[in-house]
Amino acid sequence: MHTPSTQPRPSIYYKYQVFKPWLASQNAPQSKHKVVIVGAGPAGMVTALELARHGVPCVLLSADLQFSQGSRAIVFTRRSMEILQQVGVAHRITENGLPWRCGNSIYRGQKVFRMETPHDPDDRFFPMINIQQQYLEEYLHDACASNPLIDVRWGNKLVKAVNIEDGVSAEIDTPEGPYTLTTDWLVAADGGRSEIRSSMNLKLEGASFESIFVIADIRIDLPYPTERLAFFDPDWNRGNTILMHREPHGIWRVDYQLPPGETPEEALRPESLKQRIDAQLKMIGFEGTPWEMDWNSVYSARTLTLPEYVHQRIVFTGDAAHLLPIFGVRGANTAFQDAQSLGWHLAFVLQGHAPEKLMQNHSTERVGAAREIITEAGKSTRFMAPPSRGFRLLRDAVLSLSLTQEFVRPLYHWRTSRPHEYSRSLLNSPCDDNRQFKGGPALGAPPQNVQLQTDNYLLDHLGGGFDLVYVADSKGIPKDIAQAVASLQAPGLPLKLIAISSHATAIEGAHVTLHDPHMRFQARYAVQAGGAYLFRPDQHICARWLQLDAARLTQSLQVACMR
Ligand SMILES: Cc1cc2nc3c(=O)[nH]c(=O)nc-3n(C[C@H](O)[C@H](O)[C@H](O)COP(=O)(O)OP(=O)(O)OC[C@H]3O[C@@H](n4cnc5c(N)ncnc54)[C@H](O)[C@@H]3O)c2cc1C
Repeated sequence: MHTPSTQPRPSIYYKYQVFKPWLASQNAPQSKHKVVIVGAGPAGMVTALELARHGVPCVLLSADLQFSQGSRAIVFTRRSMEILQQVGVAHRITENGLPWRCGNSIYRGQKVFRMETPHDPDDRFFPMINIQQQYLEEYLHDACASNPLIDVRWGNKLVKAVNIEDGVSAEIDTPEGPYTLTTDWLVAADGGRSEIRSSMNLKLEGASFESIFVIADIRIDLPYPTERLAFFDPDWNRGNTILMHREPHGIWRVDYQLPPGETPEEALRPESLKQRIDAQLKMIGFEGTPWEMDWNSVYSARTLTLPEYVHQRIVFTGDAAHLLPIFGVRGANTAFQDAQSLGWHLAFVLQGHAPEKLMQNHSTERVGAAREIITEAGKSTRFMAPPSRGFRLLRDAVLSLSLTQEFVRPLYHWRTSRPHEYSRSLLNSPCDDNRQFKGGPALGAPPQNVQLQTDNYLLDHLGGGFDLVYVADSKGIPKDIAQAVASLQAPGLPLKLIAISSHATAIEGAHVTLHDPHMRFQARYAVQAGGAYLFRPDQHICARWLQLDAARLTQSLQVACMR
């Protein structure tokens, strides 16, 4: 019998709510479900919300009765915010989070590099925003719980999942004992220690780095702005690195690397934690400032992925599919991109808009993304925690040269999470004008936002299906294009025709007209009247035309749905 803890998790600033378990005896008998999602972390909940947006119901299982312990992921990127906007929670994060765009690298007490990420007026969201993972989970859960298509089941632990003909049979344990679920598809979003992954004997590929870091969240009043602080080779922790991040509610995250040979148990002893945090505070000039511990843990950097995410009708996503180092804010941020991709691919298969092989495309695209991140994250990890004498020598040379030489300083800037471009996707159109474009996002690229008017952005209007964004002139939408859109929509394909116009009047034939008085879309997307972009449901570009025509539009949509 599964007995999840009913004791609220400890925290000095967050009040954990303990939810009631879902019990089979109190609910109607189970019929076959379309989708069961195992795990109510960021990946599972965003997948559930994305599926619901496409009209697909699901059961969302959480083994626990409360949100995850400790702050865990704290930095969310602009692209994550754009995805979270799609599922209706971004406003809660901007209301409560701390936006930022600068990072400082400090060596021997000297600021040797300052990263300033540009913040374009065309972007609704800051490059980064800090908020603790419990809040993110709370906002996502509120959205799930109020969505009638999502059946949230707390205290339901999946103990066995088996592929059967046309679906999956799952055994679930609860505080009153087990019950069985059958489903067309099962999403394994059960985190880094995925029991589904290990029970299926699936092996992650990649590397694990030996360096261990302590994460400590402390409450302290420090007069710094919200900017990342990275200290290299400090006096109190020679050869190692320390990161500091401001979080809401007066909390600071201090990450520090352990000297080789020290065990996590030793490092997490209260005296050891106190001694090191005091040393860090002394180094930055705040010796004796009172602080209080909220949560601490250890982690090591891993760059691992499954080579395939789809195994018959079981699909892996988020940490269950890959483990990425947190330098460059990759864990949860990548999980959102996985979930957004999975949501529409799976919905399209279930609703008959695309054949089942579309799921293979999801796997190929997301494994490609994970491998790209692994390559990039490997570089940052090697800089933050050099794994061998050679890497350390190189890193130390950069550190010492940076005190006097300007040219080496940008080497401090490790790449942060960015969305993968599906430039080789099978869904990209072979019959568009991509190659003739002189700018704008190319095939496979994520979208670029555009500020149309005050508090009105392009991405506020995209999503839920394919979006054809057409630059209209005074003649409106050509009849043959409007007709092609209508016949593509006829079998139920979610396709929206959005006209962009510099005039305020509605364009005939378009489902939506966006007023772009300064023609910013045309500038950012390098396209004139009569041209168009086709956005996939995850907003990546799959076709673009300098002059759209009905035949090529129809063909491109068939390609994008693998028809
Ligand atoms: C100590 C720590 C610190 C971290 N710090 C950062 C950071 O600073 N920045 C960053 O980007 N990332 C960080 N991460 C990683 C980040 O938290 C994850 O990448 C992110 O949570 C992944 O989301 P997920 O939904 O895939 O998995 P998880 O958040 O792990 O969610 C998995 C869910 O599945 C549930 N579950 C597990 N097994 C079962 C089962 N059998 N049946 C039902 N439910 C089940 C769990 O209860 C949980 O709700 C950290 C992680 C840890 C552990």
